[in-house]
Amino acid sequence: MDEFNKKKVVVIGAGPAGLTAGAELTKTGRFNLNILEKDNQVGGLSKTITYNGCKFDIGPHHFLTHSKKVELWWKKVMEGESKENNFVQLKRFTRIYYKSHFFHYPLQALDAILGLGLIEGFLCVFSYVKIRFFPIKNVKSFQDWVTNKFGYRLFSIFFKTYSEKVWGIPCTEISSDWASERIKGFSLSKAIFYAFFGKFARKSAPRTLADIFYYPELGAGTLWQRVADNIIQDNKNSKICLNEKVIQIKHNKNSLKSILTYNLSPRVCPTKKLNEYNADFFFSTMPLRDLILSLDPLPEEFIINAAKKLSYRGLITVNFIVNKKNICPDHWLYIHEKTVRMGRVGNMNNFSLKMIDAKDHTSLSLEYFAFVDDDLWNKTDGQLLELGKVELEKIGLVEKDLILDGMILREREAYPVYDKNYKESLNIVKNYLSKFNNLYLMGRNGLHKYDGMDAVMISAFDRVETFLGNVDRENIFFAGHVKRERIKFIKLKG
Ligand SMILES: Cc1cc2nc3c(=O)[nH]c(=O)nc-3n(C[C@H](O)[C@H](O)[C@H](O)COP(=O)(O)OP(=O)(O)OC[C@H]3O[C@@H](n4cnc5c(N)ncnc54)[C@H](O)[C@@H]3O)c2cc1C
Repeated sequence: MDEFNKKKVVVIGAGPAGLTAGAELTKTGRFNLNILEKDNQVGGLSKTITYNGCKFDIGPHHFLTHSKKVELWWKKVMEGESKENNFVQLKRFTRIYYKSHFFHYPLQALDAILGLGLIEGFLCVFSYVKIRFFPIKNVKSFQDWVTNKFGYRLFSIFFKTYSEKVWGIPCTEISSDWASERIKGFSLSKAIFYAFFGKFARKSAPRTLADIFYYPELGAGTLWQRVADNIIQDNKNSKICLNEKVIQIKHNKNSLKSILTYNLSPRVCPTKKLNEYNADFFFSTMPLRDLILSLDPLPEEFIINAAKKLSYRGLITVNFIVNKKNICPDHWLYIHEKTVRMGRVGNMNNFSLKMIDAKDHTSLSLEYFAFVDDDLWNKTDGQLLELGKVELEKIGLVEKDLILDGMILREREAYPVYDKNYKESLNIVKNYLSKFNNLYLMGRNGLHKYDGMDAVMISAFDRVETFLGNVDRENIFFAGHVKRERIKFIKLKG
């Protein structure tokens, strides 16, 4: 028995990052672990909801990584699943809807020319050549970055409307960081090269164009539910406490001491019950803004103000069960059309036919983006369902009468916003938090980093390794960015 046996660890959040850290800590068998989750199920943004016999992700989640470690981890987890829930490989099919035309994504040369028309095609090439000769020198915004890569014309067709729907701010106010993280390694010349020669060179394609991914047949969230089940089965000292919302974090000058939660379980309402969790070490995936505002005592005012400036974009999914099959061949349809508010449609059937209740039905998930004080966010479920129906009919995808049923899901903090000033606020918050020697930050909102499941898992591996390796040292907080592995594109077995 070593000195760390029975040390208490609390992990805030049972999304992919929290569960990955929880699983890695449980493997050591050395800690008393409590994972605190405010939701009534695990998985965070990567969960799957069942509604009237149909299953919906929060926007379909595909499993794609360049990290061998992550890929093997997923596969090992899925080995524990029943035969009904295979981890299947799928070939991505995605299109962009713009001006009543469906453009293949990644671009296909002939399709793009036919869709845009010869004159528009010529203007796009002209604007691309122009920017190559006269690039924007002082690149600050998302608009500058993408325009330099593709030319203004293509930017305005294929990036502007969708990005502004997602972020709710003009592209001139979105930081160029988002573009460099999202579309890194991707350029018009590459897009055109893969449009013509993609079939021969898929293995070297950048991630943005990768077309093979994994999916658990019963929904993305089932992988995370399996991770949670394993954590509990593997060690009786590990617990996952659902409906526990962290509302207060007590600390002294240099270390966190305990956490107070509201129990949100319907059985406990209307009087919310407070629970207290003491611990020696804390891992957090909750939004940084909320973490700072939960501290007791609160930090100085300028730190509180910086935290309040970190903002989050909410996501509403309008989920429909449709009395029709083969609605569209796409996994995702990106809606670049300005005349409708939806940003993306996910077709769950094309991920797995086990997501639907009857073989003649289709489950569709429409994504709408909004800040929580927007008019859209504050519409009733009934109004949102009606909006979804009208817009599906408007783009010619589904007639209203074919929609059998629907439900609304809302996620308040789906996207950490990269506005022009976020970095300054983030640095203030990070500097302040680095004084706590028993706090480890990880995950998407825990680091305020627009990351997918694989990257948040890497952040969790990183924190746990740092924790286990440096537990003797005085300062065990690692405030750096997610250290991504040097990655190679993995050849997937078909
Ligand atoms: C529409 C959409 C589509 C996506 N598609 C993909 C995809 O195809 N592939 C991919 O790899 N990634 C995708 N992602 C990203 C993926 O969802 C995230 O990377 C991942 O879920 C982040 O995991 P996390 O654990 O860091 O955070 P989260 O998933 O947000 O989990 C954090 C958890 O913490 C809990 N929590 C927060 N505050 C508190 C509190 N105060 N007390 C207790 N609990 C709290 C939350 O309830 C949540 O369960 C998508 C995201 C969105 C929004």
